[in-house]
Amino acid sequence: MEEILRSERIASVRSDIRGAVYQEALKMMASGIEVLRLNTGNPPAFGFGMPESIRRALLENLDQTVAYCDLKGMPAARKAVCAYETKKGLPNLSPDHIFIGNGVSELAGMLCTALFCAGDEVLLPCPNYSLWSNCVILADAKPVYYRCDESAGWYPDPDDMRAKITPRTKAILVINPNNPTGAVYPKEVLEKIVALAREYGLILISDEIYDRLVMDGKEHVSTASLAPDLFCVTLNGLSKSHSVCGFRCGWMCFSGAVEKGEDVLDGVVQLAAMRLCSNALTQVVIPAALADEETPRAMVVPVGRLYEQREAAASVLKKIDGVDFVKNSGAFYMFPRLSKEKFHIADDRRFARDLLLAKHILVVPGSGFDYPEPDHFRLVLLPEASVLKKAMEDLGDFLDGYHQ
Ligand code: PLP
Repeated sequence: MEEILRSERIASVRSDIRGAVYQEALKMMASGIEVLRLNTGNPPAFGFGMPESIRRALLENLDQTVAYCDLKGMPAARKAVCAYETKKGLPNLSPDHIFIGNGVSELAGMLCTALFCAGDEVLLPCPNYSLWSNCVILADAKPVYYRCDESAGWYPDPDDMRAKITPRTKAILVINPNNPTGAVYPKEVLEKIVALAREYGLILISDEIYDRLVMDGKEHVSTASLAPDLFCVTLNGLSKSHSVCGFRCGWMCFSGAVEKGEDVLDGVVQLAAMRLCSNALTQVVIPAALADEETPRAMVVPVGRLYEQREAAASVLKKIDGVDFVKNSGAFYMFPRLSKEKFHIADDRRFARDLLLAKHILVVPGSGFDYPEPDHFRLVLLPEASVLKKAMEDLGDFLDGYHQ
């Protein structure tokens, strides 16, 4: 039999978060070496337990979870999402325009497949969470990256965005709070993005999965709340705010000028019907989780784990010669820069591998986030403060004298 090859369609699909360096880490772990895995945003792996609100809701509603449910999601779950997102300012939202899915990941795929045609261009942030470039590519569309400006707190640069708009541009994606930079965008920046979408008739897609993990007194503003006259899609879920990423529980809301995109909604219904329904076990907890605002809040206030862990990491990181970073105000990531002059890093995957082999710390290189320069990497700030401090000290040790 001839060799069987994968489809060409997936040739450029990539996930460095679980890529070659990760495979190397798995081998090390299999041989008994302990590796600090700072590659995935997986809160339960770092001791963030299941909130009691969710455990209770799950047990109380277990019997409701065995049948296929509505392809858009259970009515009670969509009603709770509708109330939550309406409170966030999403205009003319209705449970009918909400889809519950197996995580934002599944919904991103459904949205891109339903929305994009071959050759459509989609403006994605740089750096970018690779789920989105992968979904755009699998829909035969083309990712076009706009600059998020490190010297301006990693905020999107609307001038660069404007320069990249062509007659083929169909949508702008915003990830706010951002992965991998941890930036939380101010309203004024979002207003400029909305104005561009309005001027060029573009669809706005906003991935807001970290919206409840915001620190330093900042307030999260939903992109769609500023655009009642545009076709907007907002994605969110429970993976991060309630540390239940294994549940695979997300939602997607169409708001604003929904009437312009009824056909797209029908397309999403087609795709949702194909998989019958989203996992019902996780849908029954949505009302209780959204009522439980204390769980995410407790993580981000001073003394909360995410706040203290960020402080611990930053306190050591800032002492490392040749490392610069913008402290994150949201999510649990930072995207530090390694001095070109000092380390001469030409291959950031090699850097990540060298760090792994020397210090048993696994990070994702910046190129894994479609970043064009090989001088960044992403830190996951989920381990306890003492563990992170030690890891940052080890990083400092490793970088002392390191160059390529
Ligand atoms: N969107 C962003 C920006 C993420 O960082 C992640 C996971 O890390 C996801 C989506 C995936 O979310 P879910 O677990 O709901 O699939």
